[in-house]
Amino acid sequence: MTIPITTPSQVSGRTALVTGITGQDGAYLAELLLAKGYRVVGMARRSASADMVSARLRWLGVLDRVELVDGDLLDLSSLIRIVQRAEPDEVYNLAAQSFVAASWQQPLLTGQATGIGAANLLEAVRIARPRARFYQASSSEMYGLIQEKVQSERTPFYPRSPYAVAKLYAHWMTVNYRESFGLHASSGILFNHESPLRGIEFVTRKVTDGVARIKLGLASTLPLGNLDATRDWGHARDYVQAMWLMLQQEVADDYVVATGRTTSIRELCRIAFSHAGLNFEDHVETRSDLIRPAEVDVLLGDASKAKQKLGWSATTSLEEMIAEMVEADLVRHRRASGA
Ligand code: NDP
Ligand code: GDP
Repeated sequence: MTIPITTPSQVSGRTALVTGITGQDGAYLAELLLAKGYRVVGMARRSASADMVSARLRWLGVLDRVELVDGDLLDLSSLIRIVQRAEPDEVYNLAAQSFVAASWQQPLLTGQATGIGAANLLEAVRIARPRARFYQASSSEMYGLIQEKVQSERTPFYPRSPYAVAKLYAHWMTVNYRESFGLHASSGILFNHESPLRGIEFVTRKVTDGVARIKLGLASTLPLGNLDATRDWGHARDYVQAMWLMLQQEVADDYVVATGRTTSIRELCRIAFSHAGLNFEDHVETRSDLIRPAEVDVLLGDASKAKQKLGWSATTSLEEMIAEMVEADLVRHRRASGA
C-alpha cells in the first residue's frame, strides 16, 4: 500500500504524519491539511480489506492525495522507519482502540494500542525526528467520574474504563516527553465529536443509522443502553481545526476542546427521530446488556483556554450535525437498497 509519490508543489509545503488516518478524525484532518498545502503521510494498518478501510478518505474525496504507509502503533521499529522516511514537520497521533465499550472486552489490547502505542510513537519521534511537533489525541473520558461540574485543563482526572486509563497514560507520557526532552508535544483533551464518518458503534451514529433504517422501513426498533448519560457533542470537522491550531503555537500545551453544551442520549434520540418525522418513543428499546460496567454519567467541557489562546470555538450545533448525519445515513441506505 506504500505510495511514495510527492509532487513539487507538495515538497514546498510542510509534511504531516497522521496515525489513525483511516478513522473519522484522520479523514477530516487529512482533508484540512491537504487544503492547507501539506504533504500528508498517513499510517494505516495493513489489512486484507484495504479498500474498505479507506472508505472515509474516499467519502471525502482525498484518498488519492494522501501517501499511505503500512505501520502499527504496536510495532516500534515500523514507527521509527516511517518517521525517518516521512521526515514530518508535524505528527498527529490519532490511532487508538477508541471504543470505550470494547475496552472492557479487550483491556490489554486497548492498553497496548491506546496507551503504549502513544509512547512508542513518542519514542520514534524522539529518536528519529525530535524537532517535529507532536499532537496526542487525549479524551474527555479521562474525566470519567467527574470531579468538577464543568471540566477544564485544571480538572483532576478519574478514568472509568480501560480505554480512559490507557488514554490517561498516553496523556501523561505526552506531558512528560515535553517536560523531559523538550519535545513540542501537545495534548488535545477533546470531548465527543461526531460526523457522518463516525464509527457505527458510537451512540450518535448508531441512532442516526437507526433512524434512517426505520424511516426506510428496513427496521422498526433501535436497541440502546443508558439513555440518561449526557455528552458534550461537537462536529469532527470543527475539532480537527483545533488539533492543527495547537501545533501552530510557539509553545506546546494542553487544551480542552468542547462546545460547552451537554445533552442526554434521550434528547439526542428526540432530535434525530424528529428530524425524520418520527417519534423516538415508538422505536427505541432499552437493553440491559448495553449498559456499561462503569458509566461516565455527564461530560461538559470548558474550552475557554482554546478560545483565548487558539482563537478556536465550535461552529456546528448539535441539531445541524445530527441532521447532516441522518441525511447521510438515508443516502447510504437508499444506495445500498437500490431505492
Ligand atoms: P476511530 O476509531 O474512527 O479511528 C481510530 C484509528 O486508529 C483507525 O484509523 C484505526 O485503524 C487506527 N488504529 C487502531 N489501532 C491501531 C494500531 N494498533 N496501529 C495503528 N492504527 C491503529 O477514532 P476517531 O477518529 O473518532 O478518533 C481519533 C482519536 O481521537 C482516537 O485516538 C480517539 O480515541 C480519540 N478521541 C476521539 C474522540 C471522539 O469523540 N471521536 C474524543 C476524544 C478522543 P483501522 O481503520 O485499521 O481500525
Ligand atoms: P463514549 O462517550 O466515547 O463512550 O461514546 P459512545 O457514543 O460510545 O457513548 C456515549 C454514551 O452513550 C455512553 O454513556 C453510553 O453508555 C451511552 N449509550 C447508550 N446506549 C448506547 C449504545 O447502544 N451504544 C453506545 N455506543 N453508547 C450508548
